[in-house]
Amino acid sequence: MTNQYMPGPKTREIVNRDKAVISPSYPRAYPFVMEHGRGVDVWDVDGNRYLDFAAGIAVVATGHSHPQVVKAIQDQVEKFIHISPDFYHPSMVELGEKLDDIAPFKEKAVSFFTNSGTESVEGAIKLARYYTGRDVIIGFLGAFHGRTMGAVTVTASKSLYHEGFYPLMNGVLHAPFPDPYRPILASQPGEDYGQSVVRFIEEQLIGHLVPANEIAAILVEPIQGEGGYILPPPSFFPALRALCDRHGILLVVDEVQSGMGRTGKWWAIEHYGVEPDVVCAAKGIASGMPLGAVIAKEHIMCWPYGAHGNTYGGNPLACVAALATIDLVEKEYMDNAAGVGKYMLDALEEIQTRHANVIGQVRGLGLMIGVEFVKDVITKEPAKELRDKITEKAFEHGLLLLGCGKSVIRFAPPLSVTQQQVDEALQIFEEALAISEKEVLVAA
Ligand code: PLP
Repeated sequence: MTNQYMPGPKTREIVNRDKAVISPSYPRAYPFVMEHGRGVDVWDVDGNRYLDFAAGIAVVATGHSHPQVVKAIQDQVEKFIHISPDFYHPSMVELGEKLDDIAPFKEKAVSFFTNSGTESVEGAIKLARYYTGRDVIIGFLGAFHGRTMGAVTVTASKSLYHEGFYPLMNGVLHAPFPDPYRPILASQPGEDYGQSVVRFIEEQLIGHLVPANEIAAILVEPIQGEGGYILPPPSFFPALRALCDRHGILLVVDEVQSGMGRTGKWWAIEHYGVEPDVVCAAKGIASGMPLGAVIAKEHIMCWPYGAHGNTYGGNPLACVAALATIDLVEKEYMDNAAGVGKYMLDALEEIQTRHANVIGQVRGLGLMIGVEFVKDVITKEPAKELRDKITEKAFEHGLLLLGCGKSVIRFAPPLSVTQQQVDEALQIFEEALAISEKEVLVAA
C-alpha cells in the first residue's frame, strides 16, 4: 500500500474537542474528520484524500456536493429556507408527484414527509395502526428501523439498542429474517427458506400467540441493512404478501437504506415482484439533506386533518435537493448502480476465491453489497475482530468503509461511482484484508 494516513494534528484536535461536548453514544468506527468532498472523494481536515464507500451511511446518492444538487439548494436558499408543512410550497407538491410516479405500487401514492428514517418508520407504524384499527406490528430479528421509541422497538439487530430503554412500545413481535446463509428454522421438504419463515409467522406467531385480526402490519426491510446486508430468498416476499392479503395485514417495507435506486431499481422490493402497501424512505432521497417520506397507497393514507404532522417535514431545501437527486438517479445513476454494482460484486467474488478461508459470503444487489467474514467457512463463526481490523486498515490507507451485522463489511458508495474508483477501492480493501489476516491470525 502506498498511502498510510494516521490521524493528523487537526484531526486529533477536533476529535478531542468532540469528546468534551458531543454525546458518546455515536458509534464512530474510526476518526475521519471531514473537510470537504466531491463525488466519491472526500478529504479530511489534514488534507488526506479518501474514497468514500460508506456515503454517509448510504446517503449521498449523487456523490458529495453534486453541482446540480448544490445549484438547486443555492437557488432555493435565496428564496426562502423554511415555511413548515402547515403551509404550501411548490417543490413539496412536485416531490409528492414524483414519488407517486416512482412508488412501487399501481395505486396512486400519497406522501407524508419526515426528517429522518426513524421518523418515516414511526409515521408508518402510526398510519398502519390508524388505518387498520389494530395494534400489533410484526418485525424481524436482525432488523434496523431507527432509534425513536416505536421504531427502536421493532429494531432487533443488537440488544444494545434496547438496553436501558424499557419499557418499549407495546404490541411488537419478531420473526426470524430469512437469512439463507444462516437459517435458524427447519424447512419442510420442497419448501425454500423464505416460505419456511412465512410458515413460522402463520403457524407459530398467528397460530399460538396473536390473532391475525390484531396485526396491523408486517414491517420489513427488503434487504436487511444494519443487520448484515442480507437478501431474502425470492419466494419470501410473494409468500409474505399472500399472508398479509389472507389476514388484512399491511405490508410496510422499510426502504430507508435499500431504496432510491441503490439496488439498480427505485425500490429493492421491485426485485421481488411484490407490491407493498406503505414504503418508508429517507437516506438517499435528497443526497444528504435531512428528508424522509412515508409513501402510502392513497386509500391507506386516510388519517384526518391534524392527526399527524411536523415542523420541518418537506423542508424546501430538502425538497429541491430530492428533486435534483431523483432527476440524476433517473437519468443516469440507477443504471450505473446496476452496472457498476454487478462489476463490484463480481470483483469481490474473485477476491473471495483468494481469501476463501475467511470470506464466508459475498452478496448484494446494485450498490448494496456485503462481504461476510468468518473464522471457519464450515462453522460460519463470525470473524468480528478481523472485520473490524480490515475496516480500520482500509481507513488508514484511504478507503472509508462501514461494518454491519456481526462480521460484515458493507460497500455502499455513491450511485455515481465509476469502475475505476471501484478498482482503486478494492485494491485497498484486498491489501487491508491481507494485512489484517496476518495481524489477527498472529494475535490469535
Ligand atoms: N431504517 C433503515 C433500514 C435504516 O438503515 C436506518 C438507518 O440506518 C433507519 C431506518 C433509521 O434512519 P435514521 O438514522 O435516518 O433515523
